[in-house]
Amino acid sequence: MGHSFFQSTILVSTVVLLNLKIEKLVPGGEGLARHEGRVVFIPGVLPGEQVRVETTEMKKDFARAELREILEPSPDRIKPMCSLAGTCGGCDWLHIAPQAQAQLKVTVAQDALRRIGGIDWPNLKIETGLSFGYRNRLQLHTNPSGAVGFLERKGHGFVPVKKCPVAHPAFAPLFEQGASPKSPERFHAFACNDAGGKPQLWRGDEKPHAEARVKVLDRELVFPINGFFQSNLEMLEQLVPYAIEGLSGDTVFDLYSGVGLFGSFLTPHFRRVVCVESDHETLAFARRNLGVDDAAFVAEPVEDMISDSDAPASWEQPDAVIVDPPREGLDVKVRAWLKRLSVSKLVYVSCNPVTMARDMKDLLAGPYKLDDLRLFDFYPQTSHIEAVAKLSLKS
Ligand code: SAH
Repeated sequence: MGHSFFQSTILVSTVVLLNLKIEKLVPGGEGLARHEGRVVFIPGVLPGEQVRVETTEMKKDFARAELREILEPSPDRIKPMCSLAGTCGGCDWLHIAPQAQAQLKVTVAQDALRRIGGIDWPNLKIETGLSFGYRNRLQLHTNPSGAVGFLERKGHGFVPVKKCPVAHPAFAPLFEQGASPKSPERFHAFACNDAGGKPQLWRGDEKPHAEARVKVLDRELVFPINGFFQSNLEMLEQLVPYAIEGLSGDTVFDLYSGVGLFGSFLTPHFRRVVCVESDHETLAFARRNLGVDDAAFVAEPVEDMISDSDAPASWEQPDAVIVDPPREGLDVKVRAWLKRLSVSKLVYVSCNPVTMARDMKDLLAGPYKLDDLRLFDFYPQTSHIEAVAKLSLKS
């Protein structure tokens, strides 16, 4: 008792209420405002809004705060269509009109590219699709009674979910009926329509080793339900043709290949495809998905592969390289290697504009120039940004 009383006294004494004007949104989706030389980050706001916030964290040069009152709302603010907005950790942009979200992503990405990468890209395009019901892959959580849901926005608590507006409609029975009390605490599920338009649902709680099989454009791909696969098939069918357009030659490297998504679309255009993926089991699926003899599969982190003397790099100069790294972006060693490699076409697929901007700054200081850049709105109602950059050698 005494302990919690002491804690709450400290909390009360450090609460600071501020009236702020939101300058812009930043990668991660929060708003940025300034107060007495500090930047303040606030979730759930929009550029131009005048808000009253309560600070939750005060550092030397920045602070975090929570929205308490909207004094002047943005015209792009809407009433969230999900009652879990602000509680559920899944969607952070439900308060923004769908049409405004896409433009905000363009602005956030342009700002990151300029600030971090020194790259000016005024005509950045964003491809969009469904605003709701789009999400094919979900990581779900359960509670001891078998209810299904997600994790909280703040903290790691469980949020039961009966209905999720961004999930593909084929997930509905899973949310409505829940899982079994014996379900694992965390599992993946994948939902889509089959070729005949019939809903399909794979559940990692019932069959943890299940394989899902989906059609992406003209190819069928198989992946482990509890492993990685892209979460928005509609947008993926726009991204893949853009990413591989104009690529052909003898050898292509598909780095961070996952189950070989890009590699499998590149097999018709190259004599040999080399997939590099750190996860063994995932790479076994790439082998199946490529379905060709003349391919190589390297089950190693990219940064190890390039320093390994048996690496493909030492025996073959690729004509093209496609990289699709996780959020951390490219390791500094990988960037240095790509600069030495001087490949004629380099495609960078990114889920994080901050690390992409950092990496591109490095690559563009080397032998590459930026030919094109495009965003794909894979995750409406969230601040996540998916981008593809196309680089080639400076002439
Ligand atoms: N391109 C694939 C997968 C992208 S996700 C697709 O579109 O489906 C990124 C992948 O990189 C994951 O499969 C992850 O296991 C793998 N990975 C993460 N770090 C890696 C590293 N250092 N080297 C190689 N692969 C890595």
